[in-house]
Amino acid sequence: MKNSVTIVIASRNIGKKAEIKNLLSGFPVIIKNLDDFAEIVSAEEDGETFIENACKKAKFTARLLGLPALADDSGLLVDALGGAPGVRSARYAGDNASDEQKCSKLIKEMEGKSNRRAVFKCAISIAVPNGCVQTYEAECEGRISENPAGCHGFGYDSVFFYPPLEKTFAQLTMEEKGLVSHRGKALKKFRNEFDKVLFWIRQNMTTQ
Ligand code: IMP
Repeated sequence: MKNSVTIVIASRNIGKKAEIKNLLSGFPVIIKNLDDFAEIVSAEEDGETFIENACKKAKFTARLLGLPALADDSGLLVDALGGAPGVRSARYAGDNASDEQKCSKLIKEMEGKSNRRAVFKCAISIAVPNGCVQTYEAECEGRISENPAGCHGFGYDSVFFYPPLEKTFAQLTMEEKGLVSHRGKALKKFRNEFDKVLFWIRQNMTTQ
């Protein structure tokens, strides 16, 4: 497409690239990810908040490659566990733990707890090489179930019960989950403002 803007997703996850490509179809953009750039290092996710991590990854990648970069960070916060697993959601049961191990650990920690409220949060940041960054956030509230249920999705989906639909996230199709999930809502905000984002990117890329 003429006058297209290239945006790099700061991730190697093919699913994320496909989801964002689909979401921005119709806009003059070329979507790449880290696999399109040989040997590139990725930023460390050592922030205390999802916003901090998303901003850090987007800024780091934009500076390194000299291109606009998009990054997301997300996770689950459980009230009765003081906000854990939180920003450490991916590593809650150890660095190489499976989703099943993470869910089992969570169910065990929740044994006997009556307050089962939990919130999934997502931050999406887009950065340009000069360091400017914009962030979109969204969340989704639910409860930690007593037992896992459902076979779709990933991560903590099988233990996250969503009361309005009376199902866990793993019992929803990808489309159903996308309409209500933290990531789906954050991506929707981003898409709704994408015309402004494109203007902002072009302005910042020409005034470097
Ligand atoms: P990341 O933002 O892709 O790095 O996700 C961090 C971790 O949070 C993942 O490894 C999952 O364990 C958890 N997580 C984030 N979003 C979801 C979701 O939509 N469903 C289930 N688990 C999630």
